[in-house]
Amino acid sequence: MKDCQYELLGRTIIVQYMTRVEVDDHWVFGMCKHDGDITNIFISTESDDGKKMSKDSMQRTLRHELFHAICDIGQYFHTSEDEPLIEWLAICTDLLNKQGAKI
Ligand SMILES: [Zn+2]
Repeated sequence: MKDCQYELLGRTIIVQYMTRVEVDDHWVFGMCKHDGDITNIFISTESDDGKKMSKDSMQRTLRHELFHAICDIGQYFHTSEDEPLIEWLAICTDLLNKQGAKI
């Protein structure tokens, strides 16, 4: 997976793949962090025990973090705190994409 960048409603979303992403010294699949007009998304390329993450898993994590970014950027920032909803959106779009939806 390659680092990439998107523009969304005047904000720049920068996606970076890192060996290990941590929040408060704990490994996480990914994270979304805002800094002014920049939103940084970090994705772990290895699991907590050092095994390589599958492309499928990293793509689902990217979708999850992008949904956080979408909610944070718009008027739905409170929705971004709803982890089950964010993960549900990521899972469903992943399943639809596997059928060719291109979401
Ligand atoms: Zn999340």
